[in-house]
Amino acid sequence: MPPASDLARSWAALPTGARVALEEQWAGLAAGGLPCGSAVIDTSGGGVASGRNHAYDPAGGIATRARYPLQHNRLAHAELNALARLPTETDHATLTLWTTQHPCSMCAAALAFVGVGQVRFIADDPSDHAPPERIAASRAGVPYHTLGDPVWWTVSNLLFLYNAAVLAGEHARNLGRNRDRYPELVHLTLDLARRDALGGPARSGTALPVALGAQYPAVARWAEYRTPSRPAAPPVTLTVPRRGYHPDRPSGRTARPGRGGHRAHGRRLTAALE
Ligand SMILES: [Zn+2]
Repeated sequence: MPPASDLARSWAALPTGARVALEEQWAGLAAGGLPCGSAVIDTSGGGVASGRNHAYDPAGGIATRARYPLQHNRLAHAELNALARLPTETDHATLTLWTTQHPCSMCAAALAFVGVGQVRFIADDPSDHAPPERIAASRAGVPYHTLGDPVWWTVSNLLFLYNAAVLAGEHARNLGRNRDRYPELVHLTLDLARRDALGGPARSGTALPVALGAQYPAVARWAEYRTPSRPAAPPVTLTVPRRGYHPDRPSGRTARPGRGGHRAHGRRLTAALE
């Protein structure tokens, strides 16, 4: 079983944009909303902006409202919160937006509209059940590249599903909809959520790679299921194989057609969190 120090080394080797996006996602888990993070990186490799999803942040008193560019509304996705921190005069074509999940069609359109140079994503969006060709078409000519790391794919989608699993257990709609698609990931998420193994460390400010250290053997074991059976053809292939989660499954299910986008995404998480 791989030691936790492997995870620390892997974390240190991540590009800055991936680390910052995951840190935003980790903060989203601590806040109790939908954990999804984004970061904007310039040509020097330095971070110039970041944001996370605030659409489902728990509503509090008036002082907690409007703390971010977008919050408590259906536009408050991680990518848009990161983009909203960029001054208008910024040369967006020189920038790379990193995000933990593949952008939805709304964010993809915004990224193309403002002229972001390229997009890099760590995992697919487990709440987006649109056909892969429709997701690819949403990119509108902006180059997209996947990180392509099964361990961080697993971590990112585990965090994405985690709060819904804590709140609604196996009845969370977001998990139910992914049980066929990623059964191993759903199993791991529920196992950790039952013990709330990540919520305490996240809320106490423990860094993500430290908090994950104790869980790394399980994460690495499940990540083995995520290893693609064939290499992705950059830059336009999805991180998600079209046929199921396990590479050894010869003719697994194709991703179910769905309405896609964050219209459905929003309803699903809202339902899971209710
Ligand atoms: Zn989005």
